Amino acid sequence: MSQKNNKLIDKKGLRLDGRKPDELRPIKIEVGILSNADGSAYIEQGKNKILAAIYGPKEVHPKHLALPDRMILRCRYHMAPFSVQERKSPAPSRREIELSKVIREALEPAIFLEYYPRTSIDVFVEVLQADGGTRCASITAAALALADAGIPMKDLVAACAAGKVDDTIVLDLMDTEDKIGKADVPVALMPNLNAITLLQMDGILSLEEFEKAVNLALEGCRKIYAMQKEALKAKYVNVKEVEE
Ligand code: ADP
Repeated sequence: MSQKNNKLIDKKGLRLDGRKPDELRPIKIEVGILSNADGSAYIEQGKNKILAAIYGPKEVHPKHLALPDRMILRCRYHMAPFSVQERKSPAPSRREIELSKVIREALEPAIFLEYYPRTSIDVFVEVLQADGGTRCASITAAALALADAGIPMKDLVAACAAGKVDDTIVLDLMDTEDKIGKADVPVALMPNLNAITLLQMDGILSLEEFEKAVNLALEGCRKIYAMQKEALKAKYVNVKEVEE
């Protein structure tokens, strides 16, 4: 919650980690790093370290969950016990169950689910280290893992949050900004279709601030989308080089 004396922006207008308000954290993305999964991706966004892995499309177990006209997408978001400063119980928390649903719903619109009736795809997200904005970084990585698995997709999904710290609208909040800032607005975007698949808000913003935060988050999503495409290309350039 907001605390008046907490100065998250210094006199030069810079944030605790030296970023400008509209600056993303440094991002590193790798695609196809797990050989046993059908598709995988790894993302580092600031101190966040997150792995996403995909299995499928495959027959649904238990069978009664299968749908006759479309594939089902299942998602498990999980934080490793060592991902935060105080050991987290490995059992799924309410927050992890909610985030699993949020991530699934942000990915579903991007997939041609009707192409594979009676099948399922399982998306596993493992947060190895958390520092704010993990739902967004998880969506960014999981979309790439789906593409890596060769799942037919309408578009990639790129996600990023914006929010308010002190009295400034900022992009890509890290943990401290998330916890003692005033608001957090995570957004996921299918950039080619220009369609939003996730929009949440935690905290209080005026209408004007909300619009500014959403537009800033969308800008962040578009920058992350460019990095996603580079990461996908990098994997296939490597494959080509190995074959030659
Ligand atoms: P998001 O990671 O998408 O921003 P939240 O807003 O729920 O999701 O969480 C913000 C941050 O709080 C997380 O990224 C993580 O750094 C921290 N956090 C979440 N759960 C725990 C926990 N059990 N113990 C310590 N820190 C946590």
